[in-house]
Parts: sequence; C-alpha cells; structure tokens
Amino acid sequence: MKFADRINRLGTETAFAVSAEATAFASQGNKVYPFHLGDLNLKTPANVLAAGIKAMQDGRTNYCPNAGVAQLREILADDISASRKTPYSMENVAIQPGGKPTISKFFLVMMNPGDEVLYPNPGYPIYESQIEFHGGIAIPYSYIEGKNNFDIDTDMLESRITPKTRLLVLNDLQNPTGAECSPAELEKIAEIVLKHDLYVLCDEAYFDIRYEGTSNSLVSLPGMAERCVILHTFSKKFAMTGWRLGATIGPKEIIELIIKLNVNEESCSNHFVQYAAIEGLTGDQTETQQILATLKDRRDLAVDLLNDIEGIRCIRPNATFYLYPNVTGAMKKTGLTDYDDFRRTALHETGVSFCTRLHFGRPLEGEDQYYIRMAYSGIEPAEIKEGLDKFKAFIEG
Ligand code: PLP
Repeated sequence: MKFADRINRLGTETAFAVSAEATAFASQGNKVYPFHLGDLNLKTPANVLAAGIKAMQDGRTNYCPNAGVAQLREILADDISASRKTPYSMENVAIQPGGKPTISKFFLVMMNPGDEVLYPNPGYPIYESQIEFHGGIAIPYSYIEGKNNFDIDTDMLESRITPKTRLLVLNDLQNPTGAECSPAELEKIAEIVLKHDLYVLCDEAYFDIRYEGTSNSLVSLPGMAERCVILHTFSKKFAMTGWRLGATIGPKEIIELIIKLNVNEESCSNHFVQYAAIEGLTGDQTETQQILATLKDRRDLAVDLLNDIEGIRCIRPNATFYLYPNVTGAMKKTGLTDYDDFRRTALHETGVSFCTRLHFGRPLEGEDQYYIRMAYSGIEPAEIKEGLDKFKAFIEG
C-alpha cells in the first residue's frame, strides 16, 4: 500500500501509550494510581446533562448551522467579551466539535508550507504534529522554572524569529507546566507580535480552570484581537471531555474561513450538545463551581506530598489540573537516568503512572533538568495519598 507523504509527518499524543501501559499493568491485577490522565473523573453538572437530554428529546438531533446554533454563538460571544474585555459578536464565533479542531483549522487557514511557527516546548504535542503535517516548520520556544511559576523564555522566543516566521502558538494557561503568563509577559509577547507581524493561536483551553484571581488573555491587549484566534473548549470547565464541544473565536475574516472548513469537515458540531453548553453558560453554577473546589483540594494534597519527597520540587500552579515537578534529584537518587526507565520502574514498583517531559515535544538542546507531568483530574484524594506515599518510599529507598 502506498500512503500520502504527508501522513509520515503526522505526530500523536504519546501520552495515550502511557495510558495503554497503565491499563495493561492494571489488567494483570496490579493497583494503578492514574496521574497520567489529562481527563476528569468528575460528572458533568446535572443541569447541563439534563439540558442535553431535553434537547435530544426535543428533536435537536438533526443538522444545525455549520457555524453552530446562533443562540450559543451569541451567548459565548458575550461571555468571552466580558472575560477578555474585548468586544466579540456571534460573527466572531465558530462552534467546533471540541477544542482540538481549532488547532488544525487555524493552520489550514493561516499557514503556508514552509512558514515557520513558534510553539511551546514542553507543550501540547498536537501543535508540533499539526504544524509539520500541514507543511510548516515547527520552531520551539521554552519555559524557565521560577519560584512560583514557569515563565516563557521570551528572549529565546524572539531570537528564533526569522523572515519566514508567520505564526505563534501561545498556550496560556499551560499544559503541561500549569504556567500562566504575567501581565508583563503578555505585554512583551504583544510587543513581539506587533514588531514581527505575527498571528497567534491563543490556546485558552484552561482559561476557566483556575483557583484564585482571574485569568488574563493576550487578546485584551491593544492590537491583539485583530491578530489572535482563541481556542475555546467546554471540555474542562463543565467536565464534558467526551461530549466534544468547543469553539474558535477570532477576527471575522478568519472565522468565515474556519466555518467553510466546518462545512467541509463535519458539516456541523453535535446539535443537542450545544443546548447543554447554553445551560452551562447561563444556568446554575453550583456544580460547576464544585468541580473547581474538588480540583483545588486535590492540587493542594498532591503538591504538599510531592514537595515532601527528597529530590522533588513542585510549583503550586494556580491554574489547570497539571503539576510539573522537577524530579532531577529524585531520578539521581534512584540511579535511573533515562525518562522512560524512570517512568516504567515507578509504574512497576509503585503503580504510580505519570507522563514525562518526553510526552510534550522533542527535548531541546542543553536541557539538564528532569520533569514529569502529574494530572490530578482523574484521581481521588485517597489514591493521591496512597500513591504518592508509595512514590516517596520508592525514591527515598
Ligand atoms: N489544548 C490543550 C492545551 C489541551 O490540553 C487540550 C486537551 O487536553 C486541548 C487543547 C483539547 O481540548 P478538547 O478535549 O476540548 O479537544
């Protein structure tokens, strides 16, 4: 069989392989502590679920407009306008079957083969995959570990700009580090974007998963709304990962082309799910708030336990449901120098399953610190405690 050349450039989420390994290990009768999952084990709020069921019973089971149900587009535009302090209307919104489709559609509309695209590394691996799949050149930029946050290495970012650089991917708030950009960092990025005439994919999948304060967006800065496309998703805030609903929000001219891609790719997003999303945005927020409270408790428990392990240093991110502990000292103590050896040995000896830095892009030259990613969205507090106690014993010997 002969396949298209481009398919050789398609990457994947290798974190799914970690899931498969953990499942295989569990099926042999072993206890697994699932810190690898970027999914929630929490229920979709009952009022959101009920609205989805009602919409199905009401017959919202046929096609709907390619851009999405008008009422949802309007409500979402108002919601995003308020939280980003930037005026958007329904013409700026294209509903999508999840957050992820915005990534490939953004590159299809904005990137020519040979264009260079700056993307975060460590970062969500689909950026690298989609840039290269569509013929672009993926140029990584990195983060610097601070005391309470990972900061974008803006010097590295700017130094990698060439006349071929057209686009920037900004994931704020970030998977896997939990980092958020400070107002000064956002200003610096806006300055770079204007100076070098860039367009930006603002992946804001975790914008609403924060425990204190309010999230900031690059689009709120002068001149940015015209250059930024927001990836929005209902997956995280409403624990709706399997419902598949999100949106692309940006300049009208770009959104019109994205809607044309919707027509070509899926006709429309799932019709009745959009009524569940309307309830999520406008209805009772009690259970939605409870999701955040539950995640915050898990975060605090996991961070405290990790920082109590010799050779581990873990920042307490204010957002996302990921931790990105520095495990350089811990790996040294176990005598394991290879990421995969460390991960597999920990799984087999303790049942604790996690992803490593390797699952978030090709490591950059000169990296000398080691990190793992632990998600606390799919694991109960009792298991966090039991698992991390075993992990501590494994590392401290
Ligand atoms: N962007 C980031 C940074 C993510 O971590 C994820 C999912 O984990 C997505 C986008 C995709 O979200 P969705 O599941 O809504 O497609």
